[in-house]
Amino acid sequence: MSPEWDLVVVGAGPAGSQAARCAALRGAKVLLLDKKDFPRPKICGGLLSAKSLQALGLPLAPQVGERRISVVQLVGPDGETCLAREAAFLGFTTDRARLDAFMVEEACRAGAEFRPATACTGIGEEKEGHINIRTHSGSITARGVIGADGVFSKVARSLFSGRPSPWRLGLAVAAELPLPSSRIEELFSGGCAIQFYCLPLPYSFGWAFPYREKVNLGIGTWAKTGKNLVPLFGGFARQLQLRWGVGPYKLKVRGAFLPAGGLTWRTGRGQVILAGDAAGFADPFSGEGIFFALRSGQLAAETLVAALGERGAGPSSAQGLYNRACGQEFRTELSRSLMLAILSGTKRRFFRRLASEPQRLELFERIMTNPKAYQTRPALDIERQLH
Ligand SMILES: Cc1cc2nc3c(=O)[nH]c(=O)nc-3n(C[C@H](O)[C@H](O)[C@H](O)COP(=O)(O)OP(=O)(O)OC[C@H]3O[C@@H](n4cnc5c(N)ncnc54)[C@H](O)[C@@H]3O)c2cc1C
Repeated sequence: MSPEWDLVVVGAGPAGSQAARCAALRGAKVLLLDKKDFPRPKICGGLLSAKSLQALGLPLAPQVGERRISVVQLVGPDGETCLAREAAFLGFTTDRARLDAFMVEEACRAGAEFRPATACTGIGEEKEGHINIRTHSGSITARGVIGADGVFSKVARSLFSGRPSPWRLGLAVAAELPLPSSRIEELFSGGCAIQFYCLPLPYSFGWAFPYREKVNLGIGTWAKTGKNLVPLFGGFARQLQLRWGVGPYKLKVRGAFLPAGGLTWRTGRGQVILAGDAAGFADPFSGEGIFFALRSGQLAAETLVAALGERGAGPSSAQGLYNRACGQEFRTELSRSLMLAILSGTKRRFFRRLASEPQRLELFERIMTNPKAYQTRPALDIERQLH
């Protein structure tokens, strides 16, 4: 008996929905699963860079974009000195619940079927072109699987033992601060600026991203240095509220892990491929993960659908081809990003560098617009100066 589905995609974040949509557009019979009911909240800064929008390949529905971003501000270790750079277009801030629900709708519009509240509990061995996907409500069979179920992926754990090492993980906490739209416009250059903060904790930075009527505040760092992240965040949020003359509000602070290994990926095995956070793709310097989720989701779908189409010889080579494609797109970029993350340390020296040569702020513009940002002059120059 042939499997029920050509492809089962586990996880309906940006990686999974992009994979499901791309595979369905190529004619595959696709089932997209998520353990949660949708729309569901997701802890995130919600910054969708210009390069992510390009990778998405769809116009954003109006309800998904919160604010159009064209200015980057970097606030120094004293909390006052601010460097700024304006560009034409850097991206949008988005509410992740809405973005992810929009992407699921687009996957369904392309022909995929979506099954919410269906948790994958493991993946069986492949037998004669059948893969068994276990869920808490029964088993499903498919010819190929894409595991896009986040940083502690069940699919990855069915293939490889153990969880990712804390040395290869980032940890970030975030909360939403309510602010009237008019105040946001005063504080964030008309509402189109994102702010990054240099903090005393090594390998960390803080952010403030404007939404329509709230600001997303957060701090990210390496998991190994992140033990005191919640109290540090408390101080950071209090200071900002004091400076902005609002609150103090009791904020709902939530934290989550993200990949930060730079070069340590696991792309799957045979016809089971991993994408997005599940594979370990995220930018260790900026913490950006949505771009890599979208690109790897698309590459996973393209490679797997092509391999499944080549009966006989094809399928077993899917993961090898995908691994090569990801290497070509991400390897140099993520290794340079990791280098910059390490070199920029507590950001004091990094900030001084940028303050003495403000044109180097172009780095942020490149990171948000160019998939090869860390291989361009602004990044290479800063890296050289920090050595
Ligand atoms: C605090 C914080 C702030 C961030 N800010 C930004 C930002 O501003 N911009 C940016 O680009 N990146 C940001 N990131 C990174 C970004 O959120 C991730 O890289 C991105 O969400 C990865 O997408 P994904 O589709 O791979 O995984 P996810 O978005 O994590 O989606 C995984 C999906 O799988 C589902 N799932 C999990 N387990 C199972 C299971 N067993 N069965 C079925 N479904 C399952 C989950 O419910 C979820 O819907 C941030 C991360 C954190 C932690």
